[in-house]
Amino acid sequence: MSIYDDYLKKALRHLFDHWMDERVGLVAAALIDSGKDVYATSVLNPDGTWKHAERNALEQFEATYGKPGPSAVMLSTLSPCVRAAGSGDAYGDQKNAARRQDESCSALLKQHGITTIGFGTLDNEDARDNSSYTDLGFNVIDIRDRIVLAACKALNDTFPAYIEAEARGETGCVALKEQLLGSLLCPKTIFERGADCGASIKGSPESGGV
Ligand SMILES: [Zn+2]
Repeated sequence: MSIYDDYLKKALRHLFDHWMDERVGLVAAALIDSGKDVYATSVLNPDGTWKHAERNALEQFEATYGKPGPSAVMLSTLSPCVRAAGSGDAYGDQKNAARRQDESCSALLKQHGITTIGFGTLDNEDARDNSSYTDLGFNVIDIRDRIVLAACKALNDTFPAYIEAEARGETGCVALKEQLLGSLLCPKTIFERGADCGASIKGSPESGGV
């Protein structure tokens, strides 16, 4: 494990500290550069679009510290979206593009010279595997902390129910989060119970690793 596991854990803690805020979404990000760090979530804009967590982290970093340098690292609970803007009916379009503010996070990061990324869960809608990012010129840091990986997977697993709720006309995801609170599917519960268990948490056999 590396220091980046700890940074992503802090991003998760930041998300779950704000979990029930009306505008907070299902993704968190951390931007780290030369000892400076910021943590951000995806947020629902007043116009109904989503500002993705990576964009939010970059905006907050720039507002606090100025432009990040070439050694900056963007970590996110879900790997950065790649698909171009669009409003198709497919699940991936609805999840990653239809109500996204501006261009993809991958394009945003490249524009700002941020080429090192790490994530807790690969977004299968936009990426085949890590090569989807290395082919775009990104270096991918391996995240291994089992609590972090479990919470990030649970967050991504919440998206289908959210997209269904959105299709029914619900705004934001507080109602869905309320339904999930305390259940075995609740990302916040998974994270907090895992954190309580600390290093004794057992990984699943398929998680392998060192
Ligand atoms: Zn994105």
